[in-house]
Amino acid sequence: MQQQTEALHTGYNKDTQSTMAVPIYMSTAYEFRDVEHAANLFSLKELGNIYTRLNNPTTDVFEKRFAALEGGEAGLATATGMAAIFYAIANAAEAGDNIVCAAQLYGGSLTQFAHTIKRFGIEARFFDVHNPSQIETLVDDKTKVIFFESLTNPSVDVADIDAIVKIANKYNILTVVDNTVATPIICKPFDFGVDIVVHSASKYTTGQGISLGGMMIERKGLVEKIKNNPRYKHFNEPDYSYHGLVYVDVPLPIYTLRARLSLLRDLGATISPFNSFTLIQGIETLSLRMREHSSNALKVAEFLESHPKVEKVNYPGLKSNSNYDVVQKYFKDGMASGLLSFELKNAEEAIKVVDATNLFSLVVNIGDSKSIITHPASTTHQQLSNEELIACGVPAGLIRLSIGLEASVDLIEDLKAALES
Ligand SMILES: *Cc1c(COP(=O)(O)O)cnc(C)c1O
Repeated sequence: MQQQTEALHTGYNKDTQSTMAVPIYMSTAYEFRDVEHAANLFSLKELGNIYTRLNNPTTDVFEKRFAALEGGEAGLATATGMAAIFYAIANAAEAGDNIVCAAQLYGGSLTQFAHTIKRFGIEARFFDVHNPSQIETLVDDKTKVIFFESLTNPSVDVADIDAIVKIANKYNILTVVDNTVATPIICKPFDFGVDIVVHSASKYTTGQGISLGGMMIERKGLVEKIKNNPRYKHFNEPDYSYHGLVYVDVPLPIYTLRARLSLLRDLGATISPFNSFTLIQGIETLSLRMREHSSNALKVAEFLESHPKVEKVNYPGLKSNSNYDVVQKYFKDGMASGLLSFELKNAEEAIKVVDATNLFSLVVNIGDSKSIITHPASTTHQQLSNEELIACGVPAGLIRLSIGLEASVDLIEDLKAALES
């Protein structure tokens, strides 16, 4: 089935009321038929609803639908993208282990890896996403995950997925990709051999800046990579927190199963059924919106590139961009999503333009249907010196745009007036 069709139908077969919309099951818990039924659910002899921290019928539709869009086997929804990323790591690594991750990352992932998981004894080692061969110098037998973003936020770099997966498979290490900015409409990492996909659903999936949510999805057949793999002993040995269950022996998608039974159970970053409902509405139109975000962003990028005051435009969909060839290889129909950045001479010029726009809102978010503008040097990257800003690819005169669904002529007119004010 095509993605557009799956986005509207997968996972929902109408409930007893025959509602067209997926119902919001706002219920903390579920009644068992009798004690035997309850015992069967707890021992996984039978699958079913127990308590909403673990599963919920509305969230179940969201998980099945998102997994189908990615072409994966199963999904686990979480309260936020950051929780999905943490679960994807914590499901594989423990104290004493390390992960190897691209240096070009979302700020929250960078701090989670460099600071928070470090306090849990998991070390993060960083490679340049444009130089995957560095991974070989960083992995050892304690490396549990190789993590990168398919299309990076905010630096809009595009990963050479094949090159990274090839090295990971040589060492039998799991690959985890954050596919938030590309979305499965533009890029399907499983087609290129990635093992696990994570998302912040709070961006393009919700689409209108409404709900926070996260998702972790595993590829079909992942168990084969984990079975008898000495890196992942905890999937191959009894889990005494679950009466001695051996995950690789269970005929279910085991990466999401373990994350649900162990991490979601014990850490509890569960999504609200209401948020799952709003994210299902977002998925219904995701394919249409990503096409429009991408074509709008390309038009704005082309305008900015032609403007004399603009020193440089970073948008992977532009022919002049160094990522252009990788985009053609991994992204569908030349789409490159709605994120772009451009450089003006200095911070003063950039601040003037940001303050002079009317249609763009000054917000630290992306993926909204309304266009967004930010000046990283005075907000997210405020603590860095001029030299440090240049080193991490965020010069003082850089402006980041998240292009929404307004008419591109209106966005261009607004930017033109701001640049010439
Ligand atoms: C926003 C974002 C996240 C974090 O997601 P939340 O839902 O805000 O927790 C992770 N990765 C990327 C690429 C993001 O843009």
